[in-house]
Amino acid sequence: MTDNYWGRSRNTIISLTIAATMTACNAKPVPTTSQLNSNSTQKVPPVTEPIHKSKTAIQNRNFSVPIKFQGKIVYRVEVPQQEKVIALTIDDGPWKPTTTQMLDILKQNNVKATFFWVGKTVQAHPQIAKEVVAQGHAIGNHTWNHHYHRVTPAVAKDEIERTAEIIYQTTGVRTYLFRPPGGYLNNGLAAYAKSQKYSVLMWSQTSADTDPRAKYQVFVKNVLRDAKPGGIVLMHDGGGNRSRTVKALPEMIKGLKQKGYRFVTIPELLQMSP
Ligand SMILES: [Zn+2]
Repeated sequence: MTDNYWGRSRNTIISLTIAATMTACNAKPVPTTSQLNSNSTQKVPPVTEPIHKSKTAIQNRNFSVPIKFQGKIVYRVEVPQQEKVIALTIDDGPWKPTTTQMLDILKQNNVKATFFWVGKTVQAHPQIAKEVVAQGHAIGNHTWNHHYHRVTPAVAKDEIERTAEIIYQTTGVRTYLFRPPGGYLNNGLAAYAKSQKYSVLMWSQTSADTDPRAKYQVFVKNVLRDAKPGGIVLMHDGGGNRSRTVKALPEMIKGLKQKGYRFVTIPELLQMSP
């Protein structure tokens, strides 16, 4: 989401974080229809040979979305009452060393998360990207350059398609999950994603881990305070120094487990919508 790495001042970071949080808070409930995944592979091309072969086995994985969520903005998913599930989402990587550190924590706790990747960081850290996929986490598109400003339709297309391509070439993954940088829905990027039937994933609760002054315990507190079934939690592994998020992650997981939550990826969460 937001960070000075992507070229913003501290004051702007805070206001953007608040604005994005407010946007999430003001979200309308996710619309429900009876259509569920009747054609979830729509638009996903047939799986073919990976373009780049390497020693590391490239997995062919498609993160497609149920038809009712294609071209839609999602803040939280209404799940059956008995399902106390929550989805951790981790933005702006792959990143050194934080992504690998977070992977270890997730593995130790048997938790699967969803990573929203910036294209140019996938290009910079292909081995980390492969490892994330090999460990069974879900992947989303977070654009190539992480722009906040308004872009032309041609730039929006390039930002998203280039990122889709590097994700595919590096890991064999096709994804129809999209998260707009900074949570901005009106600068042209989300519009292009919607036009291509991506599901635009926002969040229902943020760790607020882009706050440069907060202690890591605050991130934990934010997440535990706002947790709700079907919720989507925002945090970051990249875009800056995320050592505090790494520290917070085990306590977030522990606290959520104590509250009775189990962890699902975004594709799993979308599938659970009745
Ligand atoms: Zn971001």
